[in-house]
Amino acid sequence: MSERTAGPVPPPSERVRVRRKPERGHYDRATIDAILDASIVGSVGYVIDGQPYVTPTAIWRTGDRLFWHGSSASRMLRRTKGGVPVCVSVFQLDALVLARSGFNHSVDYRSVILLGQAWEVEDEAEKLAALRAFVEHLYPGRWDELRPPTRQELKATTVLWMEIAEASAKIRDVGAHDEPGDESWPTWAGSIPVALTFGAPVPDPFVPPGLEAPAVSPAIGGSPGLPSARQVVPRLAEEDW
Ligand SMILES: Cc1cc2nc3c(=O)[nH]c(=O)nc-3n(C[C@H](O)[C@H](O)[C@H](O)COP(=O)(O)OP(=O)(O)OC[C@H]3O[C@@H](n4cnc5c(N)ncnc54)[C@H](O)[C@@H]3O)c2cc1C
Repeated sequence: MSERTAGPVPPPSERVRVRRKPERGHYDRATIDAILDASIVGSVGYVIDGQPYVTPTAIWRTGDRLFWHGSSASRMLRRTKGGVPVCVSVFQLDALVLARSGFNHSVDYRSVILLGQAWEVEDEAEKLAALRAFVEHLYPGRWDELRPPTRQELKATTVLWMEIAEASAKIRDVGAHDEPGDESWPTWAGSIPVALTFGAPVPDPFVPPGLEAPAVSPAIGGSPGLPSARQVVPRLAEEDW
């Protein structure tokens, strides 16, 4: 399921139905995939002995699966593989939102929350394909330029995946709001856009002259121009998240 369907897509479960500001919730795969594909990192949440942990880690998507990886010695990876319930959250910050009251300050964002179970990629060919997808997600065309991984490197790396099935996206793109009457308060209000940018590449000392750094995928960071339920809603005195 990766096509945008006509009409709003209902939540895949009650657990991921956006209740707070439901008009900002999206469940279509095109929106969810675009936010995942724009992201370099996500946070993997899991519970060990009753204690929740949330570990930031690089994530990438191939088809209906979200992947993450790391050292085979990583506790996060060792303790979540094998069908352990996880929650992964990913976001892009699009703007700082300044209102005329502290109460109405906010941020514009695109975010995804996924619920599911984490599984290890055990098949060696699938593991290689997943690692290739990780590199290509960030730097299209780079994998074929790299020294191939050794058996030892593959052994030292664990790759996990979860199905993208029980997922929600939430997009705030409405900028600033003030309570009626606050507009005349003499302070600045509006949005300060936030965007991910990359600086000039810094080569290491072994790069031969003339060899250029690869370009980072233009999908990274994405754009706030994703479909959203931007609409004029009556203002209530409530927090605007
Ligand atoms: C960068 C960023 C900063 C934020 N800062 C704040 C803040 O300071 N204060 C604040 O109250 N909120 C903030 N939010 C919004 C926050 O993520 C929640 O949406 C909000 O707090 C409502 O939470 P809830 O548990 O009541 O949502 P509910 O609507 O009750 O959650 C029900 C289900 O909706 C889905 N859902 C909820 N929130 C999101 C989301 N953000 N993305 C995808 N799916 C979602 C999940 O599947 C969840 O299980 C921020 C969001 C982002 C991305």
